[in-house]
Amino acid sequence: MQLNNTPIQLKTINNQAFYIKRDDLIHDEFSGNKARKFLYFLDNEFENITKLISYGSAQSNAMYSLSALAKLKGWIFEFYVDHIPTHIKQNPRGNYKGALENGANIIEDESFINNTFVIPHDAIFVPEGGRCEQSEYGISKLASELEDWINEKELNYEDVKIMLPSGTGTTALFLQKNLPLDIEVLTVACVGGDEYLKKQFFDLEKDENFHPTILQTPKKYHFGKLYKEFYEIWKDINDQSGINFELLYDPLGWQTILEYNTKNKDKIIIYIHQGGLKGNETMLERYSRKYDK
Ligand SMILES: *Cc1c(COP(=O)(O)O)cnc(C)c1O
Repeated sequence: MQLNNTPIQLKTINNQAFYIKRDDLIHDEFSGNKARKFLYFLDNEFENITKLISYGSAQSNAMYSLSALAKLKGWIFEFYVDHIPTHIKQNPRGNYKGALENGANIIEDESFINNTFVIPHDAIFVPEGGRCEQSEYGISKLASELEDWINEKELNYEDVKIMLPSGTGTTALFLQKNLPLDIEVLTVACVGGDEYLKKQFFDLEKDENFHPTILQTPKKYHFGKLYKEFYEIWKDINDQSGINFELLYDPLGWQTILEYNTKNKDKIIIYIHQGGLKGNETMLERYSRKYDK
């Protein structure tokens, strides 16, 4: 199984140059950074394994990509959630629909959330959002693609900033850890705030030198909630770049890096497009219902 070596494209946004790493083009079925995270499971053989188990939100990008992985591997896929929204159950769309089409068993089960669930011996368990050591394998490949490109262009490492919005922070952390430290990785906490993100970094890596830089946001946003300024920035960036971005993480990612850029115009910014476009189906419905009147 091969993932594409994804292109880096130069775009002009608000009269500034931005390079976009198109990890959304990585694979037809896997989305962006989830393909990077789960590459380890694709590239290795697992004897006596028949099942893949994970948990999280019934609309998550991770769930959909894991369903694609299980399908390719011929594994049963069990995904535990605490709740499936009724409207999604009645009319499956987006990641939920895609996962069902890949044969996922999406199960509402309290015992999982209460930690009383026992993982069977013939199963591989992936923590929510792929926040695990195995993710480093695929993310290190992303790091080498970036490093090769920076070297080919003969750029000074100190001038280059890599930007990507964080959920669990797994992608940003392993990226910084696998790049020369002079190439700074910038991120923003989309889930649970800066303290949560910092803790995630420490859980995966004790040495703070390898932690990405967390950029501040002008106000506090709640993950998954709709904000008019998010919808507007999303449409604006899509228009200016001709690229379709993701609606949960990218609006805050772009808002933050545009602000950073106004104060650091001499820096060369590479923004990582981390895929997740299947989730836009449901986000876009919610946004246009609320704001397109
Ligand atoms: C999962 C995901 C993220 C967050 O990745 P982490 O490694 O958990 O920080 C960001 N953007 C998109 C599009 C995603 O699907």
